[in-house]
Amino acid sequence: MHQPVDSLATPRFTGPRTFARLPYVPTLDGVEAAVFGLPWDGGTSFRAGARFGPEAIRSASALLRPYNPDQRVQVFGAVSTIDHGDAPTVPGYIERTLPRLQDFVGSIAAAGVVSFGMGGDHSVTLAELRALAAVHGPLGVVHLDAHSDLWDRYFDLPYNHGTVFRRAIEEGVVDPGRMVQAGLRGSLYAPEDEALAADLGLEAIPWRELAGLSPEAFADRARARVGTGPCFFSFDVDLVDPAFCPGTGTPECGGPTSFQALELVRALHGIDFRGFDVVEVSPPYDGPGQQTALLAATVLYEMLALHARGRADGSAADRRIAATGVGELDDVARRP
Ligand code: MN
Ligand code: MN
Repeated sequence: MHQPVDSLATPRFTGPRTFARLPYVPTLDGVEAAVFGLPWDGGTSFRAGARFGPEAIRSASALLRPYNPDQRVQVFGAVSTIDHGDAPTVPGYIERTLPRLQDFVGSIAAAGVVSFGMGGDHSVTLAELRALAAVHGPLGVVHLDAHSDLWDRYFDLPYNHGTVFRRAIEEGVVDPGRMVQAGLRGSLYAPEDEALAADLGLEAIPWRELAGLSPEAFADRARARVGTGPCFFSFDVDLVDPAFCPGTGTPECGGPTSFQALELVRALHGIDFRGFDVVEVSPPYDGPGQQTALLAATVLYEMLALHARGRADGSAADRRIAATGVGELDDVARRP
């Protein structure tokens, strides 16, 4: 069982930085959940710096404790979790970098380990989606972001942090019929830009509408949309208002607070997520308290808790089946 080092043996401000003071383990034996960095910002269109995101998230994560009272679940110590290090990149060359990221994430997925990526700008998600779909088939997606990331091209080129989900849909690694994106706001180029999601067949919930939904009502819509198949959860920190998350590449005013954003994440239990990421942390633009990196670390912790909740529910279901000998094991055991 891999878990964080004991904070009473070595205080939290000591030791080499890994996510939540988990052991750095380059192999995958005995691992169920792997946190890793995707240190890349060659896909940004405005402010760069997200290549330093994983390092900042690791530093901000040192205070995370094993039990999550908001989701009422033991996170560390219940699920064998590691920091798997950083994926390789080729600075400045996105078409050389995406396959390297994909290979790195692909080895995690092939080992049956659930992946938790730390960006990196949002272009890294295309590599993760390709890698996971190669193992699990086309994925459902829950995408929280101020932006749709559904643009076709930038500078007449296809790969960028604003084109990720259009590429993923075109490539068939994401099923738009099982995708929902929420939190969208900010200026556009033309009225028809608001129809991008509908044109591509996915569901979009602008922040103005999301702000009027309870987290549970949002999660009910998300669960209905993505169904029971394998899914990916992508959280772009620019979802959150720049008052709380200034350290990001393309900030948009008037978004949710940190609390509202965390409540949205916590509500998304009961979905079969095989991979997660938190992207677009740009430490050079962060506040003096590194609050963007801290929010990103906390979101990742809530994602780990969602996974731990699913495991706990699955185990309970397994025990019920073993005791009664009834039930459809495949259905129930795979429910997260
Ligand atoms: Mn994005
Ligand atoms: Mn964004």
